[in-house]
Amino acid sequence: MAGPTHEIYSLLRPRFKGDLLRPSDIEYDHARSVWNGMFARTPALIARCANVADVQSAVRAAAETGIITSVRCGGHSLAGFSTCDDGLVIDLSPMRHVHVDPQSRRARFSGGCLLGSVDTATQKAGLVFPSGVVSHTGAGGLVLGGGTGWLTRRFGLSCDNVEGFTLVTADSSIVRATALENPDLFWALRGGGGNFGIVTEFQVKLHPLTSVLLAEGLTPEHGIGPLLEYWRDFMADAPFDLKWNINLRLAPNTGTVPAELRGRPVASSSLLWTGDPEAGRPYLNRALSLCNPGSVRSNLLPFLDLQTMADSDFPHGRRYYTKSGYFTHLDHSTINLLVHAVSTIPSSDTMIELAYLGGTAGQVPADETAFGDRSAPFVLTLLAAWDQPSADAGNIAWARGEFSKLRPAMKPGVYVNFMSGDEQDRVPEAYQNRWDRMVAVKSHYDSQNLFRLNQNILPRTATVKAPG
Ligand SMILES: Cc1cc2nc3c(=O)[nH]c(=O)nc-3n(C[C@H](O)[C@H](O)[C@H](O)COP(=O)(O)OP(=O)(O)OC[C@H]3O[C@@H](n4cnc5c(N)ncnc54)[C@H](O)[C@@H]3O)c2cc1C
Repeated sequence: MAGPTHEIYSLLRPRFKGDLLRPSDIEYDHARSVWNGMFARTPALIARCANVADVQSAVRAAAETGIITSVRCGGHSLAGFSTCDDGLVIDLSPMRHVHVDPQSRRARFSGGCLLGSVDTATQKAGLVFPSGVVSHTGAGGLVLGGGTGWLTRRFGLSCDNVEGFTLVTADSSIVRATALENPDLFWALRGGGGNFGIVTEFQVKLHPLTSVLLAEGLTPEHGIGPLLEYWRDFMADAPFDLKWNINLRLAPNTGTVPAELRGRPVASSSLLWTGDPEAGRPYLNRALSLCNPGSVRSNLLPFLDLQTMADSDFPHGRRYYTKSGYFTHLDHSTINLLVHAVSTIPSSDTMIELAYLGGTAGQVPADETAFGDRSAPFVLTLLAAWDQPSADAGNIAWARGEFSKLRPAMKPGVYVNFMSGDEQDRVPEAYQNRWDRMVAVKSHYDSQNLFRLNQNILPRTATVKAPG
């Protein structure tokens, strides 16, 4: 151990309450792994913070030594930002406290929480915080990027439900950001990702909900075009209680899938109704009539079951690559391109995810938060997933190729949490006319770009370090 690694270890060791893991430590191998198997990096030091003081010490030491630094909550960055080679990982995973106040319908949770820890605590009071669809995702990265999920249309984005942040900034001080305290920072944190500091606590609003109606069905290849046309037209006026996601994929080879569909291109619809179940059934039945009858399921289920049902579909360690963008409208030729794209999918776990935003999230004025576009309701994500390194080139080429065909019909813009690590040139596109304000807030709070392993906003500083 030499150079900055030795220096940073010596700086931290005397007062650090959590674990400091180096490559020779037994726990290191497990601690260094992140969700996306494409990023098997070897950091010089993993600082597992036990409390806010540890976070401050780690930030101070990182700034003093100049070592490349990543911040980890759930480790689910699609782009692999929460790890690095030969640098420092500030790991928040021991900081997973959730405090719920049922009376005021508010919660506070620590910066290292997974979505599952938040859901489990809030459901004990019959309340929900709108977040994402896989419970092992980190709340830290998800909320800071925006946060879309099953409840987005009903209650807004995750970031729309945050009332306050407590963070450790690049000079290692503790700063509060709310509508009244440091309002520019509060604005930027709602969509700006990890650019401004390390959030140690989120203060959020909650909503009453304990069960939902979920309907699922598969539409065979010949019906995908008409289904997408129906979905496009229907969602424009759909009630906010309804979320209808469509994944284009090869049907899994399992007993729940009709034999004639297995391994074939299908559209997999998931419809969620969060209001009175009886009022929702007619909408769900109409949509399900466009699916293969043998594939249709409909259930009233507890909210926690909804939030964990996709967990095993996105395992840790598999290899993933994404390309994402927005459409204002899905025209006939775009639908044809999508139908063709699913027929060329290179691996059985790859999918083309289509979501319709709008609803409550679409009603928040564009300049109220830093979050990317709310006006283009169709969100498309090409999510390539495979197991073997030998298949990297084929899968990445497929995602890039299909994206470039679809790109001319897209509206400029992208959701930062769905971007890959090779898209730094698209970061200004993600924020569009909010970009200059983002740069000003970044320049104020992190003028040396200490927090640069993220969809990075370069501060206006001559000596600044680029993401690299
Ligand atoms: C299986 C899976 C499902 C997903 N589902 C959804 C979904 O339903 N909706 C959605 O919107 N997104 C979803 N995403 C995308 C997700 O929002 C991002 O990958 C997000 O970055 C994950 O957060 P994390 O804390 O796990 O990431 P990490 O890899 O730990 O961190 C990612 C980035 O966030 C920063 N960061 C994390 N925590 C903090 C903190 N406390 N303070 C400051 N910076 C921090 C890090 O510096 C890093 O740049 C999903 C991703 C995966 C892998």
